[in-house]
Amino acid sequence: MADLYDLGERPPLGEVPKRMHAYLVRQSRFGQPRDAWKREVIPTPTLGADEALIYVMASGINYNNVWAALGAPLDVIAERQKAGEPEDFHAGGSDCSGVVWAVGRDVRNVAVGDEVVVHSGWWRADDPWVRAGKDPMLAESTRIWGYQTNYGSYGQFARAQAHQCVPKPRRLTWEEAGCYLLCASTAYRMLMGWPPHVVEPGDVVLVWGAAGGLGSLALEITRAVGGRALAVVSDDAKKKFCLDHGAGGVVNRSQFAHWGPLPDTKDAKAYGEWAKGARAFGKACWDALGERVSPRLVFEHPGEATLPTSVFVCATGGMVVICAGTTGYNATLDLRYHWMRQKRFQGSHLSNDAQAAAVTKLVAEGKVDPCLSKTYGFDDIPECHQLMLDNKHPYGNMAVLVNATKPRQGAAR
Ligand code: NAP
Repeated sequence: MADLYDLGERPPLGEVPKRMHAYLVRQSRFGQPRDAWKREVIPTPTLGADEALIYVMASGINYNNVWAALGAPLDVIAERQKAGEPEDFHAGGSDCSGVVWAVGRDVRNVAVGDEVVVHSGWWRADDPWVRAGKDPMLAESTRIWGYQTNYGSYGQFARAQAHQCVPKPRRLTWEEAGCYLLCASTAYRMLMGWPPHVVEPGDVVLVWGAAGGLGSLALEITRAVGGRALAVVSDDAKKKFCLDHGAGGVVNRSQFAHWGPLPDTKDAKAYGEWAKGARAFGKACWDALGERVSPRLVFEHPGEATLPTSVFVCATGGMVVICAGTTGYNATLDLRYHWMRQKRFQGSHLSNDAQAAAVTKLVAEGKVDPCLSKTYGFDDIPECHQLMLDNKHPYGNMAVLVNATKPRQGAAR
């Protein structure tokens, strides 16, 4: 048995080499993703009783590992060391398709040889909240796999809790299957996980960053469940992509200038300017839809730059649901619109097993497209994260081949 295999060189099923190739971040390299991510050879991880080792065929690229490279807002390596884990590196990656290569002694839901995709909700099975059968995404022990945990999908083998494994949609190639689940499951929980504010037929849903990873899947899911998505982008070149992926209308945010935190409501001039911009944006939304209907749900993630507008344009009784603060964490809003019009502001984070399975079912049935943008090679991992940080990445979700040797393999068509 070899101690280390090249990428794509397949060991006999179930045989685990001692070492593997993986992309890592180290604290000494924190900074621009292009320099922070480097390929190294590290020991293949060992498994706990409830874990599975995945032979990774392809991986998605996600924004969380841009944050990991920057070392901010969280030093994920220091956090794990504080929690007692010895490794001085972060082997990241939160999305993958692959083959189950080994399982811990208590694993029952998957077996060696199964083709799977892996969702990134990680929690301790002995967490009292989880044991009580409550939504594990609200448990104290919850982590994002491949960001807050080590040995994610940017290695030849990834270590996951077995419950994270979902059967791979058979119609998808390795790269299609590896690219979508983190964004899709997050978008699904945001749109369908907070009743009574779930997308109902005919509901208008305003989607920020609609050509991005999250946004493109929000468009797809909204269409699949009968809603009407209104896409926001910064460039007219993205319009066609959004319409192709389910948008009923598109607004270009670069035509407005009122972004950023809400001005002081006592400063009449500054507030007046902001209100003029927000009203013009709201009108542009109606024009794009062809109807004076405001969004029942606003799908938020830019945060600081857009939240005041999101709350303003949200329909009476509607919900702004948010999963990130990409442009900043200082949330401001005019409370008058919030309480008088009885709106809801809801935080949301990743998804639980049921939500990951539900959105994968929509993908497997062909109702939601995984929105694969472009397939890259393993050694493009640093550049893919840099493109994302610079907002220059291709529309949709990027994938990298890990052990898959060529694109367009793995689908049963
Ligand atoms: P992405 O592919 O880079 O898309 C983000 C989009 O945001 C871009 O396409 C861009 O579109 C838009 N944007 C950039 N600056 C903006 C601004 N100033 N105002 C409004 N829109 C702006 O990233 P993603 O994968 O969709 O992730 C987006 C964020 O969500 C990241 O912060 C990520 O970490 C987070 N996230 C959180 C979770 C969770 O579970 N909590 C899960 C997934 C992602 P335009 O320039 O065309 O407007």
